[in-house]
Order: sequence, then C-alpha cells, then structure tokens
Amino acid sequence: MKLYNTLSRKKEDFHLVKEGPVRMYSCGPTVYDFVHIGNLRTFLFEDILCRFLEYRGFEVFQVKNLTDVDDKTIKGSRKKGVPLKEFTREYEKAFFEDCKTLRIRPARVYPRATEHIPEMVAIIKELLKKGFAYKSEDGIYFAVDKFKEYGKLAHLDRSHLKAGASGRVLADEYDKENLADFALWKFWDEDDGDVFWETEIGKGRPGWHIECSAMSVKYLTSAISDGFSLDKFETLDIHTGGVDLMFPHHEDEIAQVEAVVGKPFANFWLHSEHLLVDGKKMSKSLGNFYTLRDLLKMGYHPLAIRYALISSHYRQKLNFVLSSLDAASTAVQRINDFISRLNEADGSDNENVKDLAKEHLLKFENALDDDLEISRALASLFDLMSKVNRELDAGHISKSDAQEVISVVRRMNDVLDILVDEKDLPPDILDLLEQRRKAREAKDYQRSDELREELKSKGILVEDTKNGQRWKRIFSRKV
Ligand code: AMP
Ligand code: ZN
Repeated sequence: MKLYNTLSRKKEDFHLVKEGPVRMYSCGPTVYDFVHIGNLRTFLFEDILCRFLEYRGFEVFQVKNLTDVDDKTIKGSRKKGVPLKEFTREYEKAFFEDCKTLRIRPARVYPRATEHIPEMVAIIKELLKKGFAYKSEDGIYFAVDKFKEYGKLAHLDRSHLKAGASGRVLADEYDKENLADFALWKFWDEDDGDVFWETEIGKGRPGWHIECSAMSVKYLTSAISDGFSLDKFETLDIHTGGVDLMFPHHEDEIAQVEAVVGKPFANFWLHSEHLLVDGKKMSKSLGNFYTLRDLLKMGYHPLAIRYALISSHYRQKLNFVLSSLDAASTAVQRINDFISRLNEADGSDNENVKDLAKEHLLKFENALDDDLEISRALASLFDLMSKVNRELDAGHISKSDAQEVISVVRRMNDVLDILVDEKDLPPDILDLLEQRRKAREAKDYQRSDELREELKSKGILVEDTKNGQRWKRIFSRKV
C-alpha cells in the first residue's frame, strides 16, 4: 500500500513504525460553528483511509481532537455572550451528528483542547528549558531559528525567517509572508474575558498549534505504552488534515514536538485538497459554504452527499456544484438497485461470473493501494456492474453466482459504505408497508394507492409483482 507523503512529496510504501495499531492523528474541527462540507470532505478522506487500512488488516487507533479554545471560539462565544464551554458544546454535538449522518466512523478518542492544558504546559516548559522558547510581554514564543529543520514540511525558504522581537505572530492563523516566531502561550488580555488558566507559566491560554502537539503525543504514546510521558514518545504513523493546515499549523506542531523529543513527530503526513466553490476554497470567511444541514434541507440523501464527497481523489481539488449531488444520487441508486436485482436472480449457472467478480475486486484493491485512487476503484465496481447486469438481462446468473457477486460488492462496501441495509427500515415505514400489503389483500386499491404515495414521500418506492409488493429506496432529491 502506497501513500503520498507530504514530507517527501513522494508516494511511499506504508509500514508501521512499531508493531501494534496504526497510530493516526487527524486535526479535528474548530467548534465555533457548524462544519461545512469542505471540512467534511477532509473528514471523509480520513474515514476512507482508516477503512482501507483496516481492510488491509491493520488495526487503526485514530485520535481526532476538538479545538474548543482558540482565537475563533473565544471571539464567537464573546459575540454571542455565552460562556465558551456552552458555546462550543453545541457545535461539538452538531459535528458528531453530521459525522454519523455521513457514516464517518468514530475515532478512538476525541480529546478536547480545554481538558489538556497541563500537557501543553509540560511541553512548553521543556521548550523553555531547552532554549527553543522564550517569554515576551504578551506570551511565550517558539524561536523558529533555533529549530534547524523548521520549514521541512511546507518546504519553506528559510531566508525569510524573522526571528526574535522583529518577527512574532500572536494570532493562531497567519500565512507564509508572516513567517516568524509563533505563540505557544498567550498571556491573558481583556479580549479573552473569562477564558484563561492560571498555570506555572503564567495566566493565559494556549496557542492553537501546541494543542494538537500535546493531544497527539499524549494519546498516541499511551496507545502503545502504559501511561504517558514525553520520554516514551514514539513517532506517529500518520498525521492528517486539510492542505491549509500544512503551514503554519503542522509545521509548528512538528517544531514543538521534535524540539522536545528529538525524534521525528510523524512518519507519514497526508493532506487532502480543498473543496472549492467557483474556484475558491469553501470557507466560513468567504461565506461560500454549504453545511450538511443545508443540503439535507434541500432534499439530498446523505448517501448521495457521502458519495459526491468521496468519489474523487483526495489530492485533487474538487469544485463543488449542486448538480454533482444528482449524479451521485444516480450512482448510489444504481449500486443499491444492483444488489436488489442480484437478490432476486434465479437464472442458469454462469461459469465466468465468479472469476469476473474476483478480478474486479482485485482491481478495486490495487487502485486503493495506489494512494487511495478512489476513482479507479469505483470504475472497477461500475465495470463489474455493467457486465453482470448484461448477464442478468440474459437470465444467465444463478442464485449462487449472485451471492458471490454480492459478497464482492459488500467487501468493496466495507470501504465505501454506500449500501443501505434492507433490515434497517425504520418502524414507521415497516408499518406503512404492512398496511399497504393488507389493503391490497382486501382489494382496497384506493387505500393502497394512498399508501404508495405516502411511502414515496418518505423515499420508498413500492412496486407490485406476482410475488407480492416489492420496495426500494429512492436516493434522488426529494422536492
Ligand atoms: P477547521 O474546523 O477549520 O479547523 O477545519 C477542520 C478540517 O477541515 C481541517 O483539516 C481543514 O484543513 C479542513 N478544511 C477546511 N476547509 C476545507 C475545504 N474547503 N475543503 C477541504 N477541507 C477543508
Ligand atoms: Zn491540529
């Protein structure tokens, strides 16, 4: 399995640093608002990555943090006039709901920054002790010129480094033009209101970058040892995030950790490209975003949204248009219909179909082995579907052939997760289906037609066959 490593700008063979689970850290949401579908594209890329690692037999220990204190969350809570905790908890809850709706599998741990201040202070103290950090009037800063490898991830030109008093950035977010010493700890000022911690290094709050360093080191060290201490640190296997985090966030995370532990922070750095709107990054600040809730309200099916966001390669920019959701609905419909059709197959034996299924599964796996080339993986599924559909048309698929093909598609679905399980019908739908069956039995066709319409409005299409009523889900947009 090859993955593209931002550190080397090359595809490299994936291997574990140490025996045990794949220890992966993914930068999670800043909980100051609902996440938008750009954020969700990144979380879905991480979902596919975890699922495929598991498919390949690895156990995955993923940590995804919740940024519940930073410049943005403080600003948001003060604007709204509610305590920080109350403000962020609402968006945390919404984030978990959105992940569930899109079938993003939960990480093993979701640490909150506000609950790891002592760990951050411990790292900052070490940095001060080792001379990588210094105190100034408004905070404690990391001296970038002291860390000789600063810039290795983002491939920075170090000649622009502005170290010391001439170049300091207090803000969490800044660009390469403002490359300078960055804040590890920000001393309290009035704009912070009641957000501060009284600690050994002063009254204040952490910078955003130290939060991720502390939480990743803590949970991914304890994943392979009992208890946590900086001395036990082992290089992480994978660290992920959207491409905007490469600089300064990830560059700063590397500096903070490596300066203290003297080992590489992470072996593989994976970055997903942005979701764009009219060529620009989808973002809160530009106001060009959709939340998942917006799309659901417009009638799009969650699985169509999942499909639209996973179906192109994670390192390619993806220009988002609403019509892509219609195309995705069609794709999800075809795949689910294919399974229903196979479940009803009862034709003659076909000596080729089992090999055909295996061959396409292999192509699917090879594509994902190649840095998660999902478009190629999906192409092999659709190719299999069109070939098998032709055989089904000719009545040339037996029950046992059909089960073999279904098991191959289900195997692919372990990664994709876009099939609906017929057993998952909610009780109200089951009840309507039962009522309709009885109405037809009683030859009450008016009632059965009414029920058909009601079911349709709930996304279930009912057809009558000689073997009774049959239903399927509709994935197209409900208007
Ligand atoms: P944030 O909540 O801003 O900290 O972002 C959470 C995750 O979403 C990070 O990994 C970001 O890099 C990622 N992200 C932000 N905007 C986009 C976008 N337009 N497309 C893809 N990923 C994004
Ligand atoms: Zn982070």
